[in-house]
Amino acid sequence: MRGKSLGTFCPLGPVLATPDELADPQALVLRTRVNGETVQNSSTAEMVFGIAELLSHCSRAFTLEPGDPVLTGTPWGRGAFMDPPRRLVPGDVLETEIEGIGVLVNPILSCGTCDLGRGGLRQVCRERRITGVHLPGAFAERVAVPRSALHPLPADMSWEAAAVVEPAANAVHAWRPADVAPGARVGVIGAGAIGLVCLPAARPEHAASIAVADRSSERRQMAATLGATTVGAELSGEFDVVFDAVGAGDTHEQSVRLPRPGGVAIWLGLADASAGFDATVLVRTEKRMLGSFAYTADEFAEAAELVSGWEPGWTASYPLESGAEIFTGLMRGGSHPVKPILRPWRRGRRRASATRPRILRPSSPIRSPSRETMAD
Ligand SMILES: [Zn+2]
Repeated sequence: MRGKSLGTFCPLGPVLATPDELADPQALVLRTRVNGETVQNSSTAEMVFGIAELLSHCSRAFTLEPGDPVLTGTPWGRGAFMDPPRRLVPGDVLETEIEGIGVLVNPILSCGTCDLGRGGLRQVCRERRITGVHLPGAFAERVAVPRSALHPLPADMSWEAAAVVEPAANAVHAWRPADVAPGARVGVIGAGAIGLVCLPAARPEHAASIAVADRSSERRQMAATLGATTVGAELSGEFDVVFDAVGAGDTHEQSVRLPRPGGVAIWLGLADASAGFDATVLVRTEKRMLGSFAYTADEFAEAAELVSGWEPGWTASYPLESGAEIFTGLMRGGSHPVKPILRPWRRGRRRASATRPRILRPSSPIRSPSRETMAD
C-alpha cells in the first residue's frame, strides 16, 4: 500500500508560493496530465473544506510550523476510481499544474479566425498584435493576456531558461522553411539570442556543419560553446543555407551571395530595411530568399520543450534597478551578456515591494515517472 502521507512517496514542489503571490487561493485551476492527456481538471473553489478552515482545524491538534505541508484530497479523475481502474505504469509521465504558479506567455496574438490562422500562418495574421509592442506588457507587475496565449511553465525549467523560450521559438520556426537536407552546410550571421538558439535547435543529422559569424569575440565564444563548427567575424566559403539573424544591408548581401546555386537565405533579423543585394542573382542561380517571422503556437510549445533542460550560459540576471543602465549599454552597442534578465526580486531574499513570481530553486521536477500506483 502506498499513500501520500507515507515516507518516500509524496512528490512536492519544486515551487512554493506565498499567500501574497496568489490573489485568491480558493480560485486556482488544478490540472493533472498523464502522458499529455488531461485526467484531472478542477479548481480549489471545489474543495470540500476551505484552506483557512483546514488550517484552523489542524492547528487545534498540531503546532503548525512555517513550511509544514497540509495534504488534502484530490479532484475527480483519480485512476483508482475509473472503470476500469487506470494505474500508472513504469514510464508514464505525470504532470501537475496549478494556475498562477508558473506560466509562459506566447506574446504573438492573432485574430484567431482568418484564412491565415486556419492555414497555420497565425504569426503573420493581418490583425496580429504582440504583447509588449502593440499592447502594454513589458516590465509591468501584472499583465493581462488572453488565456489562449498561456502555456504551462515546465516544472523543471529555470527562469533563465524560460526567458529563452521566445527566441528559441523563432529558431524552431526558421529551420522549417530552410528545409535542410542531410549533410547540409549551414551559416548563421549574428550570434545574438536568436542566432545562438539556431544552434541547439538544429537537427544534427541534417546540419553537417554550422559556421557562425559575429563581430563580438564574446559572442563567437558562446557560439563555439553551443556547438558551432567554426566561428569568425564573417562567414566565408559556400553554404546550403544561410540564416541572417542580423538583418542589415551588408548581412542581407552576404546571406544571398554565400549560398550555393539553388541554396536558401533565411532572413530573421530586422536591423534595417535595406535589401542590399544584387537581385539578378536570384534569377541566375535560382537561390531562394525567405523571410521568417516569429512562430506558431505549436512551435512555441515545441521550443518550451526543447529549452526545458537548458542552462543558457549567455543570460545574466540583474536587479530591476539596473534596467536603465543595461538598456543604455545595449543602445550603445554593448553585446555582453547576450540576454540580460531583469529580476524584480532578489535571489533568496524577497523585498516587501517585490512582485511575484517567487520561486524556490527547483531541486527536482514535479513530473515524475512513477512505478507506484496512483495514491488515493
Ligand atoms: Zn487573422
